[in-house]
Amino acid sequence: MSDQQARTISMIVFIDALGWEVLEGRRFMEEQLPHRRKLRSVFGFSSACIPSILTGLMPRDHRHWSFFYYSPQTSPFKPLRLLGWLPGALVDRGRVRNLISKLIKRLYSYTGYFQLYNIPFEHIDKFDYCEKSDLFVPGGMNRGENIFDHLSRAGVPYHVSDWRAAEEDNLAALRTDLAKGEIRFALLYMAAMDALLHRVGKASALVDEKLDWYAAALEQVLRTAAAHYDEVRVFVCSDHGMATVHTHLDLMRQIESLDLTFGRDYTATYDSTMGRFWFHTPAARERIVARLEQVPEGRILSDAELARLGCDFEGHQYGELIFLMNPGVLIVPSHMGLTPITGMHGYHPDDPDSDAALLSNVAPPDDPRAITDIFHLMRAEAGV
Ligand SMILES: [Zn+2]
Repeated sequence: MSDQQARTISMIVFIDALGWEVLEGRRFMEEQLPHRRKLRSVFGFSSACIPSILTGLMPRDHRHWSFFYYSPQTSPFKPLRLLGWLPGALVDRGRVRNLISKLIKRLYSYTGYFQLYNIPFEHIDKFDYCEKSDLFVPGGMNRGENIFDHLSRAGVPYHVSDWRAAEEDNLAALRTDLAKGEIRFALLYMAAMDALLHRVGKASALVDEKLDWYAAALEQVLRTAAAHYDEVRVFVCSDHGMATVHTHLDLMRQIESLDLTFGRDYTATYDSTMGRFWFHTPAARERIVARLEQVPEGRILSDAELARLGCDFEGHQYGELIFLMNPGVLIVPSHMGLTPITGMHGYHPDDPDSDAALLSNVAPPDDPRAITDIFHLMRAEAGV
């Protein structure tokens, strides 16, 4: 290399669900990453948080939030309604649903993350889906520009993980690119922590084991980087934390016990931590609101609060009414899952268990406070 300038690599290591409270009392890479701060998360699941990290925008502005939203006019899923005639024992099995999801993803040429979860097939023709495109490429957002738009326009040589691949493969691919010494910026994507925390909860010793595994893997990455660059800047970050589930609530049954017809009087979708409602008659609104007001395990979010959270969508795209559970209360069953799990996220960002984390070996530029600031950090690091 004839380059006279000091060669610098900036690496963003994204570990899904590595929350500030998950790290509490643990000494994960304290020596290597002494700059540590919590970041406020964004209200919603990873399908909302990751777009906010990649764009610096709130959900209202990038228009990614919970996967499914009521939109019978644009629903691409009308043919799937036929599957509603098949016995639930067959089509509601996780493995069968995964297979159907894969098939749809291919038939529809979706490049984003696509999963049907447990949306009932008899009602699926009323819903559209918000993540049809790969978020990790230029032009991947429903609205606005992501970091990859900026990187590619500026011609910065960069590495980004394949979010569909396993962590070991992503680590190996990054180290291969680092050894070539050509990239200036890298985004490593690691998703397994989220699945583990859902399964075992943040207090489990398996989480300590997984953190040790990450530390060893990242030390190897840092050694490879140090061998090929003069300066290595690394920022480990996350999108949200993980609350421990203590209560299950069958919200669906409470609404279905009202004398209303799904699809005619109202439409609803039940995520793990929130019910989202669309009303087709004033009476349905009145009765559902009255019932929800009697549920002490959660609360209706006002329009003003949704606006403060950056989730006031044009045309109430993701629900005319959002009923959010208190931290630790899980809606079971929901349209996201039928079986109870130990950890969940997607509660209010004010809950400490929602906080994400930023750990780095150098002081981060611009005093980041929220996960949207990771976008600005990435731009500053890449110089775009
Ligand atoms: Zn998760």
